[in-house]
Amino acid sequence: MTSWRLERMAPLGGRPPGVSRCTTGVVVPRSGAARDPAACRNYESRRAPRRSLLGSPALLQPWVFSGPAAAPSSAQLPATAMAELLDSCSFASPASVCISKHLQLRCRVDFPGKALQATAALTVQSQVDNLTSLILDTKDLKINQVLINGKEAKFTVGERHSFKGSPLEITLPSALSKNQEVVVEVSYETSPKSSALQWLTPEQTSGKKHPFLFSQCQAIHCRAILPCQDTPSVKITYYAEVSVPKDLVALMSAVRDGDESDPADATRKIYKFSQKVPIPCYLVALVVGALESRKIGPRTLVWSEKEQVEKSAYEFSETEAMLKIAEDLGGPYVWGQYDLLVLPPSFPYGGMENPCLTFVTPTLLAGDRSLSNVIAHEISHSWTGNLVTNKTWDHFWLNEGHTVYLERHICGRLFGEKFRHFHALGGWGELQNSIKTFGDTNPFTKLVVDLKDIDPDVAYSLVPYEKGFALLFYLEQLLGGPEIFLGFLKAYVQNFSYKSVATDEWKGFLYSYFKDKVNLLDTVDWNAWLHSPGMPPVKPKYDMTLTNACIALSQRWIKASEGDLNSFCSADLKEMSSHQLVEFLAQLLLKAPLPISHVKRMQEVYNFNAVHNSEIRFRWLRLCIQSKWEEAIPLALRMATEQGRMKFTRPLFKDLAAFDKSRDQAISAFQQHKASMHPVTSMLVGKDLNVI
Ligand SMILES: [Zn+2]
Repeated sequence: MTSWRLERMAPLGGRPPGVSRCTTGVVVPRSGAARDPAACRNYESRRAPRRSLLGSPALLQPWVFSGPAAAPSSAQLPATAMAELLDSCSFASPASVCISKHLQLRCRVDFPGKALQATAALTVQSQVDNLTSLILDTKDLKINQVLINGKEAKFTVGERHSFKGSPLEITLPSALSKNQEVVVEVSYETSPKSSALQWLTPEQTSGKKHPFLFSQCQAIHCRAILPCQDTPSVKITYYAEVSVPKDLVALMSAVRDGDESDPADATRKIYKFSQKVPIPCYLVALVVGALESRKIGPRTLVWSEKEQVEKSAYEFSETEAMLKIAEDLGGPYVWGQYDLLVLPPSFPYGGMENPCLTFVTPTLLAGDRSLSNVIAHEISHSWTGNLVTNKTWDHFWLNEGHTVYLERHICGRLFGEKFRHFHALGGWGELQNSIKTFGDTNPFTKLVVDLKDIDPDVAYSLVPYEKGFALLFYLEQLLGGPEIFLGFLKAYVQNFSYKSVATDEWKGFLYSYFKDKVNLLDTVDWNAWLHSPGMPPVKPKYDMTLTNACIALSQRWIKASEGDLNSFCSADLKEMSSHQLVEFLAQLLLKAPLPISHVKRMQEVYNFNAVHNSEIRFRWLRLCIQSKWEEAIPLALRMATEQGRMKFTRPLFKDLAAFDKSRDQAISAFQQHKASMHPVTSMLVGKDLNVI
């Protein structure tokens, strides 16, 4: 790859590499130009070039220079945090060059065409003098027109990068001075293949009558819905008007601001939304479907298709109690409404913390509220993630580690400190599992990763969640216990609210908050925790009360000979909660495969095949397939395809493909279902199975 320095000096006439100048908006790849503009962005922090070079034609491209170092958000920051951290996952002009402040979105949802026809008006503020062009991220968008303050402007769409999409370079009609604002209005249409959207046919919904649409923008898919600076280092407010068929309801990650019939089309309705808290654009979210709601708290409605709405209202009835605890831990809830949306089964994640409207998978509907920790997790993101945001995806652990830490405190306040420790230790086991799967020298097992040329969806794993949690839990114990460390967490949220933060800034703030405990902090092996692959250098201490029963029973099974199998009976599980059953199966999976006779006997005495709790069922079916029990193949195939939560679907497909008796069936089931899978899920399962 050509170094950024050479590219920067090349006489490109204002063009990024790989982009040909044209004024029609048609993409014209330059022949042989395979270079990747992002390659010019060293991930490492660097100082801006001298401003005096700014007027030089070779240096007009905003994406090749970084502006003056941003003002440090805290006086205690280490020097390294003061230089700009560039986002290697984005082609857009960085925050040092210009900042999008507000989005005004008008959008028509076209179900037959599987497209959004939209106009996105971004209010952009220059951060430098003499800004003559800017770049936005796009992915598979058909750009029709660009207006700057209402006047048509020239633009160029660059070559498409496989996962980062195409830079949209816009020439400003006149140069902007520092702090000057313009409205950049882009008219465009999304692709039916947009990686951010899943279009469901009526047959794929519970009601079977109406189509359904939902978005998932994290990490870098917002650009497949609208042109934007698709980096978590920039935050915008937004207002949106969305036109949909009048039988359907549209919701967004914002406060609802009324609806009216569409003056342009009597068969349609326009829904309006307002998000007044600045958010990174990965939190822009849209859902359209035959949705109903039930009020389950003073600030909470639960939304879903009507077939799930009662069950959902029951399952998530603890939401307000969790919100109150979270406010006690994190400070005031600033977003107004906290609604929940239960999606169709293909939703790829457990939950997504879209502001004002958390998206969740229907696999949480266990019937006994036992999977509500996911709601505690998404609620916690209202502080860590949505208010204080990782500056780039290399620092994703800041979002997830702190959120898991808050989630476990919320569950601890509700169900006891032993329960918090039980889940913390379960998380340590999951971390061991993830690191075993990756291999302990794999760079994805570092807490701070380097995503240069890496798709964040491919790097995604439990590691930032559980290694991040483990670090915070270890620091809690080192620095004086939960109450003391929660004090730090609240101060951290307060200090960095409405901002984006990198690991160095977090660490600088930690040192300043605990300035009387610097000696203790200096005993932490920071390099190993933050930058080394594999398991953490220290294991925190865990209360074992609730875990011991799980370990004892799993050990009995692991050590049992054929003759011992008659000693097991259904009473073994009598005293165990569903959380403990999950842990029991997780312990067995660490030692899998078990002899097939053992899993057959387990089915006889425990009848796990009849359990619908998705966390139990998932681990049980993995255990069966890894033990090569053929009778479990149809059950595992069904779970892998009936829902699309990647946490379940990917390992099940992988296990099925690794078993000679089910490999062909797994591949043909994938081929059969991939068109109806979420685009990200089908891409990753395809990679897992080596079939794309
Ligand atoms: Zn999360």
